[in-house]
Amino acid sequence: MPEVRNWQLGRTMAYPYAEHHPDWQFAFVFNINRCIACQTCSMACKSTWTFSRGQEAMWWNNVETKPYGGYPAHWDVKTLALLDQAHQKAGTQPTWKPGPADREAPYGSFEGMTIFEAAAAESPKMRQALGYLPADEEWRTPNLFEDVAPAGNPAPDRLGLEQAGAQLPEHTAWFFYLQRLCNHCTYPACLAACPRKAIYKRSEDGIVLIDQSRCRGYRKCVEACPYKKSMYRPTSRISEKCVACYPRIEGDDPLSDGVPMETRCMSACPGKIRLQGLVPIGSDGAWLDDPKNPITFLVRHEQVALPLYPQFGTEPNGFYIPPRWAPRDYLRQMFGPGVDAALERYRAPSRELLAVLQLFRATRKIIFRFEIEEGPKLFETEIDGKPWAMYDDTVIGFDEKGREAVRLKVDEPIHERPAPRPNSI
Ligand code: SF4
Ligand code: SF4
Ligand code: SF4
Repeated sequence: MPEVRNWQLGRTMAYPYAEHHPDWQFAFVFNINRCIACQTCSMACKSTWTFSRGQEAMWWNNVETKPYGGYPAHWDVKTLALLDQAHQKAGTQPTWKPGPADREAPYGSFEGMTIFEAAAAESPKMRQALGYLPADEEWRTPNLFEDVAPAGNPAPDRLGLEQAGAQLPEHTAWFFYLQRLCNHCTYPACLAACPRKAIYKRSEDGIVLIDQSRCRGYRKCVEACPYKKSMYRPTSRISEKCVACYPRIEGDDPLSDGVPMETRCMSACPGKIRLQGLVPIGSDGAWLDDPKNPITFLVRHEQVALPLYPQFGTEPNGFYIPPRWAPRDYLRQMFGPGVDAALERYRAPSRELLAVLQLFRATRKIIFRFEIEEGPKLFETEIDGKPWAMYDDTVIGFDEKGREAVRLKVDEPIHERPAPRPNSI
């Protein structure tokens, strides 16, 4: 198998195809701390793309309650268990080795097998990626365990899950919402596994699509995708997946004003947890250093947003600001070793980070560049024993053509209701 560079693992890894990279990469950052699980994003996608016969159980965008929820049921626990078994069989234990601060290996180096390497170790000629095919019933309950917190056992388990339940005055129980869609991975497992070569990654924006005329419904992509974001449609007997709303990314949507526009699930989010963008990519696959691109700034410079299960090895292009209140061991398993530093930066954001966090869901246009105009100091305090100050800076986002798309201040304006009907909505 060829060796490819995976910056999230801090090393090269085996992948069935040689490196070939797009000019731009579709990517997104979700701030888990802000999600209210309203499912507006899920409905925006469903009402646009998956409302027809045979797509009833298909949710290209879903929001599940962790730790128990999952669509399909227990997708991540099952894939983690398969990887665990592969490591046990090989007599090894996966670990993250800390490395020197290096922009191309920001989380250190992953010393373990990815889903591609585990498949090669188990059955080199049989399959390209370790995975499983979910049963039909596992797709039927996308929101099972909504708002359910771990409870029942007297002591935390080995992952640190608090088992005591929620009791005032202190809430020891926890849960959080995980928003999921296809990660349009740099090294897609769905693409690697397709025997028909029906899946491809677009060179202009890195979006991963299934050619519906080539697909024969073997479901190898459904089995291989560790995030379970390729889905089988029984009426057409072929597979489908998130198309990243590509007419919007291409600027062809009537609302887009001729420039790339955020997708349906991103632009509908009332919690303002989502920021979607396009990241410039070099011919070697590395992200070009563009600190004024908001996604690059959040992921590579501030390192406040982290990939979901980077150890799977597909180099996903969806990134998450982890929740502040969940057990760290659980979060490290899910987002890798960058969790502690990311949460430290989120708790006491830099002046620039606080301004960029205002850009989430502020405009439907994709922001290619931001600028900050400095404003007066609003107040100062201490966070974790260190001085911290908030400034009323202004952040300005620019579209693909360099036109101003949005302008916001850190200090949000307060709108007072008129006196005659103060309680009306
Ligand atoms: S629309 Fe936004 S706030 Fe609502 S569930 Fe989706 S991601 Fe969360
Ligand atoms: S998330 Fe799954 S379906 Fe999407 S590109 Fe990655 S491997 Fe393919
Ligand atoms: S990007 Fe578009 S197709 Fe993909 S999940 Fe969001 S709304 Fe659905």
